[in-house]
Amino acid sequence: MSIQGKTALITGASSGIGAATALKLAKNGVKVGLAARRADRLAALVAEIERDGGQAVALEMDVVDSASVASGVAKLAEAFGTIDILFNNAGLMPLSDVEALKVEEWHRMVDVNIKGVLHTTAAVLPHMIAAKSGHIVNTSSIAGRKVFAGLTVYCATKHAITALSDGMRIELGKKHNIRVTCVQPGAVETELLEQISDPAVRRQMEELKTQMEFLKAGDIADTVLFALQSPSHMDIAEVFVMPTQQAW
Ligand code: NDP
Repeated sequence: MSIQGKTALITGASSGIGAATALKLAKNGVKVGLAARRADRLAALVAEIERDGGQAVALEMDVVDSASVASGVAKLAEAFGTIDILFNNAGLMPLSDVEALKVEEWHRMVDVNIKGVLHTTAAVLPHMIAAKSGHIVNTSSIAGRKVFAGLTVYCATKHAITALSDGMRIELGKKHNIRVTCVQPGAVETELLEQISDPAVRRQMEELKTQMEFLKAGDIADTVLFALQSPSHMDIAEVFVMPTQQAW
């Protein structure tokens, strides 16, 4: 189906997968609300989209804070009228072994990766239910399908997103004509590894880049576009996208 003229809220739009998806959707005629905390990055992206003839609004938003989410969503609805697409993509991956007891980092992952998705969904869903249509795309991960040593809490948060996605699909599809897609990428070259506070773990993860060609953020943007453009009777419920060379 055509997404021309629709409005999307994209969280985590200041870098990586979110920024690439914002550019891709804007090129396809979607009016995009760009949500993240780094306002300078968002302003630069709005300028780039507008230069290319697209429409975008910067929404300085902390997904952990439900009031910040509500005010960003209200600003987007005011700017463009409706919210047809929600890309729940903001996330963190500060990896460490469980025995390191980085409890504050566990909390941050739960707050951003799970509660953030709940906050934005709660703020946007009433718009979609009222419109009797919508599409929610959630960024889970290969870590939302499998569990890896050293990624335990991150895997738990991404498994939660996989579960939430399917539950939402079941509850919202037939009743409200809202489609839900869960995207599960393998390794993508972005700024995600910068969140890792343990230098040895960070080095280990960075070394993976010498062993295989990572996906590009644009590859995931293409995947999101594919799901959004599928015919309205068809819900691409789950997409597992891997680098060809990622053999695990
Ligand atoms: P980036 O680090 O480039 O992007 C993460 C984004 O999340 C940034 O835009 C950041 O913006 C935003 N963010 C973080 N915390 C908050 C917050 N509290 N409120 C609002 N926004 C926030 O990494 P990716 O593009 O790789 O990550 C995007 C998603 O993809 C994440 O959910 C990640 O778990 C997932 N993923 C990534 C993979 C990879 O290999 N890169 C593989 C599988 C899944 P800001 O700091 O400006 O707030």
